[in-house]
Amino acid sequence: MYTMTIAQAREKLARGEISSVELVQSVLARIDAVEDRTKAYLALDREGALAAAEEADRKGGDSPLHGIPLSVKDVFCTKNLPTTCGSKMLAGFIPPYDATVIERLSDAGAIMLGKVAMDEFAMGSTSENCAFQVPENPWKPGYVTGGSSGGSAAAVAAEECFASLGSDTGGSIRQPASLCGIVGMKPTYGRVSRYGLVAFASSLDQVGPLTKDVRDCALMMNVIAGHDPRDSTSIVRDVPDYTTMLTEGLQGMRIGVPREYFGHGLDPEVDRAVRDGIAMLADAGAEIVDVTLPHTEYCVAVYYLIAPAEASSNLSRFDGVRFGHRDMDADSLIDMYRSSRSQGFGDEVKRRILIGTYALSAGYYDAYYKKASQVRTLIRDDFTRAFEQCDLLVSPVTPTPAWKIGEKSDDPLALYLSDILTISANLAGIPALSVPCGISQNGLPIGMQMQAAHFNEGILLKAAWNLEMQNGLNLKKPTLP
Ligand code: GLN
Repeated sequence: MYTMTIAQAREKLARGEISSVELVQSVLARIDAVEDRTKAYLALDREGALAAAEEADRKGGDSPLHGIPLSVKDVFCTKNLPTTCGSKMLAGFIPPYDATVIERLSDAGAIMLGKVAMDEFAMGSTSENCAFQVPENPWKPGYVTGGSSGGSAAAVAAEECFASLGSDTGGSIRQPASLCGIVGMKPTYGRVSRYGLVAFASSLDQVGPLTKDVRDCALMMNVIAGHDPRDSTSIVRDVPDYTTMLTEGLQGMRIGVPREYFGHGLDPEVDRAVRDGIAMLADAGAEIVDVTLPHTEYCVAVYYLIAPAEASSNLSRFDGVRFGHRDMDADSLIDMYRSSRSQGFGDEVKRRILIGTYALSAGYYDAYYKKASQVRTLIRDDFTRAFEQCDLLVSPVTPTPAWKIGEKSDDPLALYLSDILTISANLAGIPALSVPCGISQNGLPIGMQMQAAHFNEGILLKAAWNLEMQNGLNLKKPTLP
């Protein structure tokens, strides 16, 4: 049963052929079989999930996720489960409330299985910055899942849940989805509520689904999208039924191929897989146009100023007073701040706080933060101009498939550079997704990125569904014990 999609499981539940308890039991057995290998779950709530499934079966119902077991990244506040953000700083923290998206999932009938691994405070591209365990790519032992939503991607790819929620500040949903061969979408900034998402960089963070196929992504979006008065950046705008758009066809769609995204450093296998995907979209009736995003080369520099600047401010609340680990042996207030933060945060988080504090400091603010914000506007304008010529942009998600755990972990700059193709969508606030488009010689998945203008998630889903129907990669699964 665990091999079904949400759509398939819902059909069987609706017809009474299976129960939610059976679904949960099947997924729990799957977790028992593969979790040693994937290390996706930080917290698993067996009893809670079974009790919720019993209740779902007893009550019955046809809400869109009724009876479906899901996992969520450990960055969302959950009332009854620990929320650690993959950090010692928050070990054992149980929030007093649920994030809006958690409420929405549960109102839609979903069953919460547990919380999955991530890079500490969502900072990273491999999930190796998780303080508790490093998840492994289901496609190849010893390889990274990507990050920061690596536990989500591993759990979905290994079918240890039907879908998962992640967060994406610079690629953290799309990149692990690509490296683990599943679908992941970062919606438009403001489309999904951030209330109860522990903040990394508030002007970039967005919540989104990681799913086994494109239809499930549309189903999840139908549930999580929409206005929330508790998030001041959440937009008042109707949510379309994304599932009805999937089958509309690509006739007349203009697809832009941004030159700058196929440059130096792109693995030839990734290049080929993405170009094969583009050919399939053209066969389906789309017109392919060459476009340019001239400020692409500045994206990494701009992101690695703005994101750490916002992070240094957001993470200042973790000082052991109200939030976070406290060093009980400290003998003065300053000493307590210093040692609590030194003990609680890992190296990458400290590095970001240092960069961000420096970039925001008096004397450097104009040269770094202000300048980065101005270049950010130029990057957004690039997209505005590109979307006058096309409806959709296609590219690779990452320059290479997954790499070995440990291979790049002592080279932060190499990791920052690997974000080059995903961070522009966050800087511009536009929606983007990753959909499988190939498998390398080495047996590792390759994803295609699709980006569209603000609030055009429907166009992304339509094109991705079309590609998936042609390449059938949603049916390809990793071999696990
Ligand atoms: N890899 C990027 C970073 O380390 C993006 C992370 C994210 O999207 N949360 O900041």
